[in-house]
Amino acid sequence: MPQSAAAGAPGVPSAPAAPPTIAPPAPPSPPLPERITRLVDLSQNLWWSWQLDARELFHRIDHRLWEATRHNAVEFLRQVDPERLAQRAKDAAFLERYDAVMRRFEELQERGDTWFADQSPELLKRSIAYFSAEFALHRSLPIYSGGLGVLAGDHCKEASDLGVPLVGVGLYYHGGYFDQLIGLDGWQRDSDDPIDPAVNPVARVNGPDGDPALVSVTIAGREVHIGAWRVMVGRVPVYLLDTDLDRNDPADRKLTARLYTSAAEWRLRQEWVLGVGGVRMLRALGINPEIWHANEGHAAFMHVERLRELLANGLTLPAARNQIRSSSVFTTHTPVAAGHDVFTTEQVEQVTGPFWNAMGITREQFMSLGNSGPNDQRFEMTVLSLRLAGRVNGVSARHQEESRRIWRWVWDNRPAEQIPIGHVTNGVHLGTWMARPIRELLAVALGADWESRTEPDRTAAAVRALDNDRLWAAHESLRYLLLHYIREEARHRWRDYWKEPAKLAAAGTLLSPNVLTLGFARRFATYKRADLLFRDPERLRRLLTDSRRPVQIIFAGKAHPADDPGKRVLQRIFTAAQDPSFEGRIAFLEDYEMHLAQRMVAGVDMWVNLPRVPLEACGTSGMKAALNGVPQLSTLDGWWAEGFTGENGWAIPLSGAEADAEQWDMEHLFRLLEQEVVPKFYDRIPGKVSAAWVQIMKSALAVSVERFTTRQMLQTYVTRYYVPAAAGDALPENSATVAQGD
Ligand SMILES: *Cc1c(COP(=O)(O)O)cnc(C)c1O
Repeated sequence: MPQSAAAGAPGVPSAPAAPPTIAPPAPPSPPLPERITRLVDLSQNLWWSWQLDARELFHRIDHRLWEATRHNAVEFLRQVDPERLAQRAKDAAFLERYDAVMRRFEELQERGDTWFADQSPELLKRSIAYFSAEFALHRSLPIYSGGLGVLAGDHCKEASDLGVPLVGVGLYYHGGYFDQLIGLDGWQRDSDDPIDPAVNPVARVNGPDGDPALVSVTIAGREVHIGAWRVMVGRVPVYLLDTDLDRNDPADRKLTARLYTSAAEWRLRQEWVLGVGGVRMLRALGINPEIWHANEGHAAFMHVERLRELLANGLTLPAARNQIRSSSVFTTHTPVAAGHDVFTTEQVEQVTGPFWNAMGITREQFMSLGNSGPNDQRFEMTVLSLRLAGRVNGVSARHQEESRRIWRWVWDNRPAEQIPIGHVTNGVHLGTWMARPIRELLAVALGADWESRTEPDRTAAAVRALDNDRLWAAHESLRYLLLHYIREEARHRWRDYWKEPAKLAAAGTLLSPNVLTLGFARRFATYKRADLLFRDPERLRRLLTDSRRPVQIIFAGKAHPADDPGKRVLQRIFTAAQDPSFEGRIAFLEDYEMHLAQRMVAGVDMWVNLPRVPLEACGTSGMKAALNGVPQLSTLDGWWAEGFTGENGWAIPLSGAEADAEQWDMEHLFRLLEQEVVPKFYDRIPGKVSAAWVQIMKSALAVSVERFTTRQMLQTYVTRYYVPAAAGDALPENSATVAQGD
C-alpha cells in the first residue's frame, strides 16, 4: 500500500495514551426498573429508529406518549409515567420482546457476521472518514436541510447495517436549521429550531482528563477552540464539531450555530472548522482513517489540513498531493451553480491566512488549489475537491454526464469521455423509509430476518408475487394513517398557535380518505418547479374538482430563508390551498422534515417530481415513495432517467431543444394525469382494487428494492471506491491540473 498512510506514516500522530471518554447522559429520573433499565442505552443509539421491534417496545409502553413525542426515544423516557414502566417490567410478553431486542442490540458490537466482514476486510485496515455539512439522522436533531443530509444519514445507517467501518464528521448547529411558519398571506416565516441535547442522543466527547476534548484552528488571526458531540448511529459514530465554548470569543461561539447561513464569509469559516477542525478532532481522538470521503465540497478543507500534515513531515508538495489524492473520495451532488461555494481570494486570505506559511508553500500555490477557472481567480470548494480527491463521482448516470461537461475545464477541456468522474447512483435506507405494513408483508413472504440478508433479486421476486388485495389493503391503511396524522397536527396547531380558521383548510383537514392523492414534497428550490401545475389554474381546477374522479394534492417543503423566488412559489401554492374554488383538494403541510416525509412517501398514491432537466442530480424522495409501493410521475431527470422502466410509474418525455420546456413539461404532465393516472386509478369496482394500478405499485416497489436502496449504493462505494483506494489501485485516468504555481 504505497500511498495510504499506514500507522506511523508521515504526518499521522500516534493515538493518544488514553482513549477519549463520552460524557454519560443524564439518567432519567426516577430511574427505570432494573429489569428494563437498558432501554436507556437503547435510546442513546439511533439504531432503534430503524428497528421495528425496538420501536414496538416504546409503542407498547405508552403509545400516546410515543406519538406525542414524535417517536423520540430519549424524550419519551424522560416523560413516561414510572407506573407504566413498572407494569411492563412485570409483563412476560413485553419482557420476551425486550430481551430479543437487547440481544440484537448487543450483537451490534460484533462485526464478524456482516456483509463487509465477508468481503475482503484485510484490504481496509482502518476506518473511512465521511465528512458532510449536514446529516439527517432523526427529526429531533435539526442539522439538515434536505436531500444531501438525508443521503448522509442514510449512508451512515447502511454502513452500520453492512458493518462498514465508517466514522461521520459534521457540525453541531446548536441553533438548528429552522422551523417553518406560514402566514395567512402565504409568506414563509422562519423561526429558530435549536437542538435540545436533553431530548437527543448526543453526548459530549471528553478527553482523557474528563474535560471536553478540544482542538483548535486559527480563523482571521484568532484561535478558535472546537469541541465535539457524538451521536451513535448503530455501529457508526458521528462526531459533530461545536465552537460554542466558554473559552471562545463571543463571535466565534456562533460560528457553528446555524446550517447554511447565506453570508459567504460565515460559510467559509464554518467550512474551515469542518475541514481542518474535523481532521484535528479525529487525530485527537486517536482515529486515523485510511480513506477520506467528502460528501459535497463543503468539507474540502480536510484535504488542505492533511496536506499540511504531510508537508510538515518532509514530503514534497507533489508527493503529498499524490498521497492525499489516492486516499480521498469526493462525491459531487448538484449541477446547480448555487450549490457550489465560491469565495474571493481576499475572503480566503482573511479567514485562513496565512495557513500557507504553516504548509511551507506560497500564497499563490495555496490559492491555485481552488482557483475556479483559467481567467477566474476566485476559490471554489468543488474545484479544490476535484484537484485533491483522486476518486470523484456524481450521484446518477445522468449527473455523471452533466458533471463531466461542467468540470471539463479542470482537465484542460479534454473530451467528456476522458473526464475521470464516475457515478454511484444514490439510494435510500430501507429500514428508515419503508413503512411497517409493507415490511411486515415482506417478512411474511421472506422470513423475519429478510432485512438483514442481502438478496435484492429474491426480495424483488417476492414483491412481484405479493397478493394484490393484501398490498392494496396495506397501502390504504397507510393513506388513512397519513390523513389521520394531518388532522391531528392541524388540531394541535389550531389549539396551540394558529389564530386563523382559514389555515385549517390549507393544512389538509378537508382532504378525503378515498380520493386519488398526489404528493409533492422537497426543498422549494425554483428548479424543482412545485408550481408547474399552476401555470394553467383552470385545467388544474377541473382535474382536482371532477365530481366523479377527483384528485387531491399534498405539498410540503421549506424554501431557504434567503431564497425569495422559492418563497414566492410556496406562497402561490399556499394561496391556492386556501382558495375555496379548489374545494379543499390542495393541502400545504408546514415544516417538512424527516418524520413528515416518512408519512407522506408511504401514504400518498402517487409521487410527483418535476425538476427542470438536467438540474436534478439524483433526487431521492421518489425512491422512498417507491419503497412503499408508491409510483412516481417525473421528468426524466436524475435517477428517473435510469430508474423508469415503463412499468413502475410515468415519465414526462424529454423536450426537443426547440420546444419551450416549461410549456412542454406542463402539457405532458396534465396529459399523463388526465389520460393515464386518473383512469388507471379509478377504473375498478368500488371497494375493490384496480389490478392495473397494483401492478404498477409492485413494479415501483420491486425496482426500488432491487436497485435503489443504500445497500446497493454503499456496496458500490466499498467495492469500487473505498477498497481500491485502500489497496493502492491506480487512480482513474490522470489527475486534475492545477492552473499555476505547481
Ligand atoms: C428525501 C428528503 C428530501 C430530498 O427530496 P428530493 O425529492 O430528493 O429533493 C428532502 N427533505 C427531506 C426531509 C427528505 O426526507
